[in-house]
Amino acid sequence: MARRQNKYQRAASQPPRDVTRLAHGGARTEVRGGQEWFVREITAARAEKAYRCPYCEVPIESGQAHLVVWSAEHLFGDEAAVRDRRHVHTHCWRLR
Ligand SMILES: [Zn+2]
Repeated sequence: MARRQNKYQRAASQPPRDVTRLAHGGARTEVRGGQEWFVREITAARAEKAYRCPYCEVPIESGQAHLVVWSAEHLFGDEAAVRDRRHVHTHCWRLR
């Protein structure tokens, strides 16, 4: 919890960088499996590409609302975490 507050305080007190904007612009944090994750909702209107969900292996079609998730505790920092982000079905994330 303290870590989360620190991250937000840091983001608020520093001029925005690309990664910071990606990581904090509209994303919320959730704890799953003892790890903290950033979760951003992609609306149907903004889902312009098709992806394959890593949890169920079923494609996420373009135009289908889904989530983008990435670790808030990545070993190599926010930049690497954002590079490793995953597109997942909303229901698959909830069930995880
Ligand atoms: Zn899925």
